[in-house]
Formats: sequence, C-alpha cells, structure tokens
Amino acid sequence: MTEVERLNYDVVVIGAGGAGLRAVIEARERGLSVAVVCKSLFGKAHTVMAEGGCAASMGNANANDNWQVHFRDTMRGGKFLNNWRMAELHAKEAPDRVWELETYGALFDRTKDGRISQRNFGGHTYPRLAHVGDRTGLELIRTMQQKIVSLQQEDFAKYGDYEARVKVFAECTVTELLKDGDRISGAFGYWRESGRFILFETPAVVLATGGIGKSFKVTSNSWEYTGDGHALALRAGANLINMEFVQFHPTGMVWPPSVKGILVTEGVRGDGGVLKNSDGNRFMFEYVPDVFKGQYADSEEEADRWYADADNNRRTPDLLPRDEVARAINSEVKEGRGSPHGGVFLDIASRMPAEEIRRRLPSMHHQFKELADVDITKEPMEVGPTCHYVMGGIEVDPDSASSTVQGLFAAGECSGGMHGSNRLGGNSLSDLLVFGRRAGLGAADYVDSLEKRPEVSQSDVDNAAKVALAPFERDPVRNPYTVHAELQQTMNDLVGIIRKAEEMSSALERLGELKEQAAVVGVEGHRQFNPGWHLALDLRNMLLVSECVAKAALQRTESRGGHTRDDFPKMDSKWRNTLLVCAADGDGVSVTPKEQLQLRQDLLELFEVTELEKYYTEPEIATHPERKA
Ligand code: FAD
Repeated sequence: MTEVERLNYDVVVIGAGGAGLRAVIEARERGLSVAVVCKSLFGKAHTVMAEGGCAASMGNANANDNWQVHFRDTMRGGKFLNNWRMAELHAKEAPDRVWELETYGALFDRTKDGRISQRNFGGHTYPRLAHVGDRTGLELIRTMQQKIVSLQQEDFAKYGDYEARVKVFAECTVTELLKDGDRISGAFGYWRESGRFILFETPAVVLATGGIGKSFKVTSNSWEYTGDGHALALRAGANLINMEFVQFHPTGMVWPPSVKGILVTEGVRGDGGVLKNSDGNRFMFEYVPDVFKGQYADSEEEADRWYADADNNRRTPDLLPRDEVARAINSEVKEGRGSPHGGVFLDIASRMPAEEIRRRLPSMHHQFKELADVDITKEPMEVGPTCHYVMGGIEVDPDSASSTVQGLFAAGECSGGMHGSNRLGGNSLSDLLVFGRRAGLGAADYVDSLEKRPEVSQSDVDNAAKVALAPFERDPVRNPYTVHAELQQTMNDLVGIIRKAEEMSSALERLGELKEQAAVVGVEGHRQFNPGWHLALDLRNMLLVSECVAKAALQRTESRGGHTRDDFPKMDSKWRNTLLVCAADGDGVSVTPKEQLQLRQDLLELFEVTELEKYYTEPEIATHPERKA
C-alpha cells in the first residue's frame, strides 16, 4: 500500500488565483472547512500578473454605463456565442464584487472626486476597468489573501487554531480526482518539494486552475498553465466546451527572443497608445470588420478626440476586440509592413509626456527597460500576437458553477461559456470574482445537502500513485522537455492564430505520436523537487487538452472570435449557437456538437435588430419587437 498523507475537508479548492481565493472565502463564510491547494507558491498565480484592470460597469467615468451596456459589449466581444446567463450574471454582479474588494482592504486608483477610477479597454463602450496602475491583479490577490488571514484570525479566536477552517497547501500539485460512483470523493496529489503523496477526502472540489497557454510556444502564460483543471475534469467525466477558441493577445513582446510572448498590457492602448506599421501608418483604420462598422472612428482626428470626449466621438479601432487586432497585426506582418523583429510598433512615446507614461504604466516602463533596453517614453515598442487566454473550459451551470459531475465545480479561466468565442480584456478579473463566489456558494450548498458523504476507495488511491510514479519506472530514453518543446511548436505552427484543415489534421497526427512518446517518457533522480518528473505528469494534461483544441478547431468550419480558419474565413450564423463539447473517450477525446439555449427575450431586446441580423439566423430573431413590427 502506498504511503499517503490523508486529510479531510468539506471543500477542496484547487487553485489559489482570483477564482480560487474568492471561492475559498465564500465557502469558509458559510462555515465549512476548506483546503486551498496550489502548485505554485501561495500568491503566485496568473491573477497576480493581471495588469490592466477589472471590468465592472460602475459608471464612475461615464454615467451612461450600466450592466446592460456591459452585457452587450461582452456578447459582441464573444460574437454572440457566450453563455448569455453567465454574461448576464457577470455584468450585473461585477460592480458589487469590486466594491466588496474595497471592504476587504483593496484600494483602487481614484478619480479626482474620489471615486474608483476606470480606464478604457478594447471592446468596452465606456471606460470600465477598475485598476491599480498596471498592477491590478496584485492588488486583487493581496486583498483576498488578507481577507483569508482575517478569517483565519477569527478561527483562532474561536478554535485556538488558525487553520481550523482554512488551510493553504502551497507547492502541492493535484494529479487526479477520485470518485465514489458518480460523485466526487477526493483529490490526490503530491508535494512538489518532497514528492510525497497527499490525499484530500472531500465531497466537493472547486477547480480554479487557470488556462492552458504552456501548450503553445509563444505565450504570455507562465509554467503552471498546463491545463491541469481542464484535464482533471475530463478524466473525472465532465465536459469541456469552446476549446477551439484560444485568445492570441495582439500585443506581446517580440524581442529579444528570450522574452518573446510576455504581455504588453492593453492598458497602453486604453491610455492612448496607437499601433503603427513600418510605414508609420495607423493601420487599424483599415481593419474594422463589417459587424463593427459604424461603431468605431474612421479618422485619426475622431479617434484622438474620443479619449477626451467619448460621448461625442467613436472609439479608436486600436481598441477593437483582441481577435480583430491580433489578425490585423498578423496581416500587416505578412504583407511586409512589420517591425524589424516580426511585429508592429506600439507608440505611446509620441502621445503623452514621459512623466505621465511612467505614472500610468510603471510596469510596462520597467519591463521594456529591463528586458529589451527600450525606453517607452522615448521609443515605440515592438509587439506581436501571443497566446494569452483560453475561452474554452469546463462546462458549468451558470448559477451554481457546478459541472456535470456531482460535487465538481469550476470557476475562472478553467471554466467555459462566459466569454463565448473571444474574451474582452478586463472581463477575466471580474469573471473570477463573480463566479469564484458562486462556485464557493454552489459547493457549500452541495455539501450541506448531502445525507451521506462519498468514500474514497483504496484501489483508486493506489492507482493514482502508480500513474504518478510511472515515469520513474521507465528508461529515460525520451525526456519530457523534448516532448514538451515539440508539442509547443506543433500547437504554435499548426493550431495557432490562423488555421487550415490540413495543418490541423497534421497536428492531430503529431499529437498522437507525442502521446505515444509521453507514455514512455522516463525521468531520473528522486521524488524530492524533481522538475523533470513534474513536467512528465503535466504533459499528460497538456496533450489531452491540446487534442481538444485541435479536434474542435477542425470541426468548426467557420471563423469566429479566437478561431480563425483560412479555409473558412467567414462567420457563419449556422454555427453561432453551436457548442462543441469535448468528453473523455478512452485515453483520447470525442467532440460532439450541441445547441445552446436561445437568448432570453428580454436580453434579446437589449440589441437592435440591425445588429442581431449580422450574427443570428432569421428564425432566431423573429420574436424581436422590431421584426414583429
Ligand atoms: P490563476 O490566477 O492562474 O490561478 C491558477 C491557480 O491554479 C494557481 O494557483 C496554480 O498554481 C493552480 N494550479 C494549477 N494547476 C494546479 C494543480 N494541478 N494542482 C494544484 N494547483 C494548481 N485579465 C483581466 O481581466 N485583466 C487584466 O488586466 C489581465 N491582465 C493579464 C496579464 C497577464 C500577463 C496574463 C497572463 C493574464 C492577464 N489577464 C487579465 C487574464 C487573467 O489574469 C487570468 O485569466 C486570470 O487571472 C485567471 O485566474 P484564475 O483564478 O482562473 O487562475
């Protein structure tokens, strides 16, 4: 029998980013005992890297903003494939979640009259991103950690033990979810430092593990984004949706090679920075797609006036949704109008005084100076698309965040639906807060409703341990680093920003070969902090999730949001409401189309029919009052 540390909790939250921490707070406030597990250090999650801000229609910078406008923007950004109930809850609840953070101790930047300041971002009609300079995610995480510490102090006062009801397990990786029949019964993992195993016996697991970017070569994501939550959910019998939609952020660093892909916040453009090609032209005016015609400025003069007077001018096309801007940059580079290192130019230096740039964008100033020896107050930056975010994720019930498996909940980037085919910048931080809270509540309700707790079977534990130790049993002829590098190159080249059927078919063939190689990957050394072993285990997840992306992308024969097909360049209204559902099938995945619920009538009526007809089929909008009239 394998030696395993065994613990028992009401709820286990996997992931200590924004979604995970918000879920922890909610479940603990409901009086449950909660474990929060993260494979990195506590506090080092992607959320901490978020720069630009958190979208919430507080109406501080423009009183015309409200949840309906935010809802409309989110649906447009996602090209109307979003789960509309999630988009509705998100738009309605985001302002309260931001306010609530201030009650926990957050301090957002202020307007002159003392309200929370809000900045412009792509696809948002009004300045909407509550921010703390360009370090918003850090403030979110700092505040929620502080809230958790205060809850632990309450527990100490009551039980004499700080960890009586919330305990953090940092540098601890979960490799398997366990079930009792159809219900979740536990989570199995290992301590990264010692390599020892740990078992959480629990009826409820909240997955908040973030994204999948490490399957791509050029990415803004860091090492822990290996799609673990996506893969854990699949293996436990849950579904993934929207996996073909991967967001390539238009502005990553392109030079020097060692930092290629690191994010350049959209806040640069939100605050006045503009994109230029090698001829010095502001090319985005050439790339406003038909669906957004009339909504964006058509001259540089109007675009520049808009920063100061948004009510009487239209937005700059530099702030079109990310999918549009990324494709435009890709085209400019392809046409030979790119920058020396294969990107385009992003110019803030000529747009505002140096002092102002340093004040508003301190991290960007520091990042370029330190990493590329570029002073952004004097020279333009060179930028190009980078894999940034996955819209696809675990299929959940919008209100409770529960997956299709009993006892399994998901929130944040690892869940799917909310952002449709393309996420608007700033909508992730608000998503984490809104649905992190709902996942905590959903899990608490579920635990409270149980008459009998599920039990963990010893054979499941032994099996999870056997799978985890398998890389030590094999000859290290094939090492995990090579397989990982080949996977990243394959996804980058063949399932990247512009896709073709033949390339995706080759990618699937290659993924099959890599899967065979990963199955024989061997590692040397001991279980104590062994990065090769950790990667060997992560590879299994990355390969499964990459298969979902490639298979779904091959099936969707249209271009929409974060899925662009060279061979099917147009959006097709027949696909608008169709989700591609990925499910585990043997050791691979099956992909099946499924229709979503039609948009509720009162929400449908928030749009003009002339806009809806660009996306919807005629029968779908027949009930719109303008059609009926
Ligand atoms: P994360 O914050 O990534 O947390 C994931 C957690 O899961 C981590 O603690 C990790 O250790 C843990 N984990 C993963 N796998 C396991 C496992 N197997 N076992 C145990 N633990 C595990 N969005 C915005 O809205 N506004 C912005 O301004 C913005 N800027 C961004 C800037 C950058 C550079 C990046 C990369 C992203 C940015 N985003 C922004 C996106 C946003 O930050 C992320 O989508 C969001 O933070 C994801 O939060 P999360 O809680 O879902 O996951």
